[in-house]
Amino acid sequence: MAFEKQTFWDDVSNAGSIGIAGHIRPDGDCVGSALGLASYIRDNFGKEPTVYLEELPKAFDFLTGGDKVVTGYPYREEPFDLFISVDCGDDGRLGKAMEYVKKAKKTYCIDHHATSNGFLENNLVKPEAAATAQIIYTLLDDSKVTLGTAEALYLGIVHDTGVFKHSCTTRETMEIAGALLDHGVSSSRIIDGTFFEKTYLQNQILGRCLMESILCLDGRVIFSSIDRKTINLYGLAPADTEGIIDQLRVTKGVEVAILIRELTPRSWRVSMRSCEIVDVSKICAMFGGGGHVRAAGATMSGSRRDVINNLTAEIEKQLINRE
Ligand code: AMP
Ligand code: MN
Ligand code: MN
Repeated sequence: MAFEKQTFWDDVSNAGSIGIAGHIRPDGDCVGSALGLASYIRDNFGKEPTVYLEELPKAFDFLTGGDKVVTGYPYREEPFDLFISVDCGDDGRLGKAMEYVKKAKKTYCIDHHATSNGFLENNLVKPEAAATAQIIYTLLDDSKVTLGTAEALYLGIVHDTGVFKHSCTTRETMEIAGALLDHGVSSSRIIDGTFFEKTYLQNQILGRCLMESILCLDGRVIFSSIDRKTINLYGLAPADTEGIIDQLRVTKGVEVAILIRELTPRSWRVSMRSCEIVDVSKICAMFGGGGHVRAAGATMSGSRRDVINNLTAEIEKQLINRE
């Protein structure tokens, strides 16, 4: 069903209970979108949505409502009147929050993934938007935005644009970020404190991934991998490897960067980034994942070599087609 803004707010206004969830392994946009929307609803409708996330990365827990986030998807008998999924394009990525969705009386999806498949009753999907937080802002009345909402949405935009540097950043992105700053957001607190600041451990693993990275396809592709042994040795959480892929991508001459992390033996979490030619969302979708043209992910099984060979073969096809 098409999304209708007024109907959405009428549904929020009429709902006795509201649930909000984002995708598994939540990133800044996912957390910022969920908490920003929850804050706005709390401030303007006098109701408290329940926000479900698989986990809340430590760097984001200062956000308003961070202390109320429910992790671990506890069983809930009662159906929600309204359930809103943010920054997630399909049921697999919503994880166990799908249980709440299945029972909910009304469901909405607000998302920007190119591979978003319209999996809920009402879907607002804008692949051209740099972040889901950016889409959420366009639904709000700016005069009713509080600092808590503004901080969360600004954080979402900062993270999905890599601090306004990815090609998805448009004039609208900058204008919305500017409007959020007018609400008193401290950009340095969000940018340095949640994006650039790295723990010693994060820097160590970044260094290791860069040192062990391998160039292939005439230097057009760079890849690196983190196996179970390394993950266990350092006690790495998924958030500890954020940003590594971005450093790989800016290697001179590289079109595509790949980082794979072993989740369980022979099952790999794949992250891909491209610069200007290869559509990585297409490649990830072929292996059951998805994402955006320049940033995508998937989970693949097999040996490290199998995974890299499968991905580079697809990259090569796209590069050859372009020549
Ligand atoms: P990541 O490399 O995990 O940071 O993911 C890059 C982008 O692709 C993010 O916007 C993710 O939300 C998206 N993405 C990652 N994995 C998937 C997937 N399996 N399905 C759809 N989108 C994904
Ligand atoms: Mn996300
Ligand atoms: Mn996003």
